Amino acid sequence: MKKKCNQRSPVTAIIILALISLSVVANSQVPGSAAKGISPVLSALESKIRQQCNAVEPKLIAWRQDIHRNPELGDQENRTANLVAEHLRSLGIQVQTAVGGKGVVGILKGDKPGRLVALRADMDALPIQEPSGLPFASKATQQQKGLTVPLMHACGHDTHTAMLMAAAEVLTTLKSDLPGSVMFIFQPAEEGSSIVEPGSGKSWGAKRMLEDGLFAKNKPEAVFGLHVHPGKSGQIDYKPGPAAASSDVLNISVSGQQGHGGMPWNTIDPVVASALVITGLQTVVSRRTDLTTSPAVVSVGIIQGGSSQNVIPDTVKMVGTIRTYDADVRKQLHADIKQAAEHIAEGTYAKARVTITPMYDVTTNDQMLASQMLPVLKRAADAGVVTGTLQGASEDFSYFAKEVPGLYIFLGITPDGENPAEAAPNHNPKFFVDEKALVVGTRTMATMAANFLVTGPMKPATIKQEK
Ligand SMILES: [Zn+2]
Ligand SMILES: [Zn+2]
Repeated sequence: MKKKCNQRSPVTAIIILALISLSVVANSQVPGSAAKGISPVLSALESKIRQQCNAVEPKLIAWRQDIHRNPELGDQENRTANLVAEHLRSLGIQVQTAVGGKGVVGILKGDKPGRLVALRADMDALPIQEPSGLPFASKATQQQKGLTVPLMHACGHDTHTAMLMAAAEVLTTLKSDLPGSVMFIFQPAEEGSSIVEPGSGKSWGAKRMLEDGLFAKNKPEAVFGLHVHPGKSGQIDYKPGPAAASSDVLNISVSGQQGHGGMPWNTIDPVVASALVITGLQTVVSRRTDLTTSPAVVSVGIIQGGSSQNVIPDTVKMVGTIRTYDADVRKQLHADIKQAAEHIAEGTYAKARVTITPMYDVTTNDQMLASQMLPVLKRAADAGVVTGTLQGASEDFSYFAKEVPGLYIFLGITPDGENPAEAAPNHNPKFFVDEKALVVGTRTMATMAANFLVTGPMKPATIKQEK
C-alpha cells in the first residue's frame, strides 16, 4: 500500500527545499578547498567522495561489526577473504583471490586512462580473549599451532578491512570520473602466520603477496595504508620518512658446563654468563649506536635455563627483539650484538651462539608522497592532522613501501571525552574503536587515491611547503 503524501503549503515547501539544498551544500563542502586553491576537477571529486562516504557509512559500520564478531588468525582468514571478494565482485571490480595465501586483490578500472594507485588493508586478528560488553564481541576460537585460542580484533584490522571495502564502493560510484585504476589490497597475516613459524621467513602476508607476483603485472605508482590507534577520534597522524620500526628476532644460546650449584668452580655457569650478556647488550645501544642518526632498541623478553635451585645447567636460551629505524644502524647493530654476546660469554669460558632472524623492515614514508598528500589529509580529516612520532611497533606494510613509494598514516579512534594517552593500546583486550572515526578513514583513503590519480606523482618543485 502506498503512503499518502502530507499536504504542505507552497511557502513551507519552498523553505524545506531551501533547507535541503543548504544541507546538501554543507555536507558536500570540502573544508578549505577554496583556500588551498585546488582545481575545480579535484574539488568536485572530493565533494562527491565526501557525499558517497556519508552514504556508505551505515554499511561500513555493519561490515566492521560483522568482521569484529568473526575474527580469524593470520593465514586462516577464510570468511573475511570471502566477504571481501564477494563485495568487490558485487561492485563489478576485477578480483583475484588466494594471493600469497588468503590475500584478496581487486582492481577498479576508471573510465578514463591513467596510472595505477594501491590502497591496502590487513584482515587478521589476534589470539586474545575479548571481554564481554560489546553486542558484537567475539566468542570465536581457532587453532594456532595445535592449540585452541580465543580470538579478538584487538589491533583494529576489522576496521581497516571495512574501511577499504567502503572505499572500494565509494570509488566505484565515481568510476566515470577516475583517470586510472585503483588496486585494493586485502592482505592476510600482518601479525604473522598462525600456521608457519616466523623463522621460516614465510610468515608475513605482505611479503608473501609480493612473492606471489602482486606487483609483477600491475605495479602501482604509490601505495597508501592506514592504521587505527589511540588518538583524538577522526584525527590523522602522519610522519614523513621512517615511521615504524624494523623488527628482528634475537636468539642467543649460551652453553657452559653442567654441575653442582654448591661447587661452581667445577662448572662453566651459563646463567651468570647470560646475566652479563643481557647487561652488556644494553651498552650496544648506549655506547655503540650513533643515536643522533636514529634510535634503536634491544630487549630480551624470554630467558630459559635450569631445572633445579642447586644445579648449574648446561645451556641458557634467550629470545629478544631488535628495533631500528635505519638500514645502516640495523646492520651495524646486528654485528655489534653478535660481537658483544660472543665475547662477554667467552670472558666467562661459556660460548654464546647468536642468531638474528629479520622480520619486518623499517616502514618508511616517501618524503615526496607525504608532502604531496599533507594538504589532502588536511581536507579529508575533519579533526585535523598531527605530525606523529616514531612508532616502536613494526608493520609489514614496509614490504609494499619498499617496492613503490608508500605512505602509512594513523587514524585516531579514542571516543570524545576520553584521554588517548590513557586509552587501551592496540593488542590490549580493552582496545576500543569509536566507530564515528571510520568514515574519516574511508574518506581519507578514497581521497588520497583520487588525488594521486588526478595529479600523479609530484616533482619536488611543484610541492608547496605546508605548515
Ligand atoms: Zn597489531
Ligand atoms: Zn595492526
